[in-house]
Amino acid sequence: MTRPIRTLLIANRGEIAVRVMRTARDMGLKTVAVYSEADARALHVESADEAYPIGRAPARESYLRIDAILDAARKAGADAIHPGYGFLSENAEFADACEKAGIAFVGPPASAIRAMGSKSAAKALMEKAGVPLVPGYHGEDQDPALLAREADRIGYPVLIKASAGGGGKGMKVVREAGEFAEALASAQREAKNAFGDDRVLIEKYLTKPRHIEVQVFADSHGNCVYLHERDCSIQRRHQKVVEEAPAPGMSPERRARMGQAAVDAAKAVGYVGAGTVEFIAEGDGFFFMEMNTRLQVEHPVTEAITGQDLVEWQIRVARGEKLPLSQADIPLEGHAFEVRLYAEDPDKDFLPQVGRLDHLLLPAAIPGVRVDSGVRAGDSVSIHYDPMIAKIITYGADRAEAAGRMSAALAATEVVGLPTNRAFLQAIFATPAFAAAELDTGFIERHRAELLPGPAPASARDLTLASLFLLLDEARASAAAAEAQDPFSPWGLAPGWRLNRSAFVDLTFAAGAERIAVRAHYVPGGFRLDLPEGASVHVEGAMAADGTLEARLDGVRMRARVVRAGQRLTVFAAGAEASLDHVDPRLASIEATGTAGRLVAPMPGTITRVAVGAGDKVRKGDALVVVEAMKMEHTVAAPRDGIVGSVRFAVGDLVDEGAELLILEDAE
Ligand code: ADP
Ligand code: ADP
Ligand code: MG
Repeated sequence: MTRPIRTLLIANRGEIAVRVMRTARDMGLKTVAVYSEADARALHVESADEAYPIGRAPARESYLRIDAILDAARKAGADAIHPGYGFLSENAEFADACEKAGIAFVGPPASAIRAMGSKSAAKALMEKAGVPLVPGYHGEDQDPALLAREADRIGYPVLIKASAGGGGKGMKVVREAGEFAEALASAQREAKNAFGDDRVLIEKYLTKPRHIEVQVFADSHGNCVYLHERDCSIQRRHQKVVEEAPAPGMSPERRARMGQAAVDAAKAVGYVGAGTVEFIAEGDGFFFMEMNTRLQVEHPVTEAITGQDLVEWQIRVARGEKLPLSQADIPLEGHAFEVRLYAEDPDKDFLPQVGRLDHLLLPAAIPGVRVDSGVRAGDSVSIHYDPMIAKIITYGADRAEAAGRMSAALAATEVVGLPTNRAFLQAIFATPAFAAAELDTGFIERHRAELLPGPAPASARDLTLASLFLLLDEARASAAAAEAQDPFSPWGLAPGWRLNRSAFVDLTFAAGAERIAVRAHYVPGGFRLDLPEGASVHVEGAMAADGTLEARLDGVRMRARVVRAGQRLTVFAAGAEASLDHVDPRLASIEATGTAGRLVAPMPGTITRVAVGAGDKVRKGDALVVVEAMKMEHTVAAPRDGIVGSVRFAVGDLVDEGAELLILEDAE
């Protein structure tokens, strides 16, 4: 039985919505987007043939509204809905509602979503299907005394997991029996808050495991295949950061055994469509963890090594077609990596960041590099959704080539406006242990010192390039003003900035609390800069309209870019970036006029972190409080420098939208 799909509605936003539309369009389908008030001008809206508003910014009032999405689908005449990932993608009620409305749900049957929805129930099913499990307890009985006995039986350390869990939430490692009761209570609390269900399961906690998952695909004719595996061991807070395919060191026999186990898992629940069976592997063993009944964030690495388009497969299967390839014909060639470029601050425990992307350059045009992104320069990363800016995927003939391309791609990535994990990702690829594929889920923790060196002081090169930028920019502005013969131009009036008044100009930079003075002497063809600690450099160069600098530093030629946003200068050179504030004497007087302000919760949620206390000095952009709702964390950041007056809530408190979280007072 086949069903026509001509118009596809994508019930999602961001990169995955844009990515699904690309394939849909290639297949000749009409594409329909939905959007919240916050996304009216988003890329996914512009990429679609048609787009429908579905409500306010909080996901609960838009992307999670089954009625509004079905309403849009009816208006648009959509005959299928792709849920993407996150939001409603693993919601059985939504899958049911689509089918009831006569609209194909591009995903598994609701029954399969339900069967895998509870990790405990899924494990019970898998046990029956003969799929290997981590030693543990996944029973119905939740009596704390029984759970404690089970933990003793399994042997410490153990891991308590929320049965309804996802996104690493509600997970607690317990090292010894004495800590069990407290950890259980805390896991139950988190699970109740996050999923409205406090049931837990207990597993043996493996101490040096790898996360290896298998991509499976099934059609409605009884065929089910695996498209090999992905290694997602590079994680922070039990969340993936880097993924690759194939898994290093995987023998063909083990691949076949894990693939078959994954296919058995899928068949046990009558699976149809794309799914991922996640295993935890240690030594020769591999154990079922959970099945994600949707397209995964990291599916592009599988596309790269198989040469298949998984979204195309999904749409074909939803039409009732047979799988395009049989098991023996699925290619596996080369190696691929994916990194998730997040708006987050690695130096602040990876806290998500929100703000405007003042400048964004993604390495789209490099051979072997694919970029999936849902944002452009000028867009904002909002408090309401996932803080992922882009996925960068690289492909190569082997692991080393793919990794080299990733380093190059990350070096060519420029983001200004909010902190990202770009340099952190770069550091991962520069670590010898990573090159040697010494992968396990403790990698980031173990290499913390190398990966998170902390903020470095501004280098002489960065100071020189920032100075050159200001000097060339000034010269350009003066020339423009002179040409316009504008007698009121501030450039004509600024003393110390006139080239002909004095033979030098003083520039002041601020990096954190530190002030850095640079004196620039005008010399034929360029400048001689006096840098801190008696250093001196001759610099000359030219600036293109796009801000690219062609510079010579003591004769050494280099290409760089300096991006200005307010007083902040971000210097991109040789694959690294550094930020400095230019302290402009002309602007000093109109600076910092803020008044004591209230900081309110962006949406109803739970306080999961209070980063400051009364009396703390904070700088503009510092994270103050983290509020969490559903799977999402929102950071409330300081809108300006100031002193924390009082903090109204503690970790664990529930807050309403608009609740006053803390008071920020003016410094003084
Ligand atoms: P995957 O296994 O596909 O990589 P994850 O477990 O990382 O998926 O996340 C699953 C889905 O939940 C994704 O859609 C991801 O965007 C979403 N998600 C996870 N964590 C968050 C978060 N903190 N905020 C918003 N969405 C999240
Ligand atoms: P989620 O639904 O949040 O994705 P998972 O059950 O998939 O939860 O586990 C998330 C991560 O936690 C895994 O990728 C792995 O790094 C770690 N983990 C899960 N189970 C174990 C275990 N038994 N021992 C050690 N680490 C584990
Ligand atoms: Mg998982």
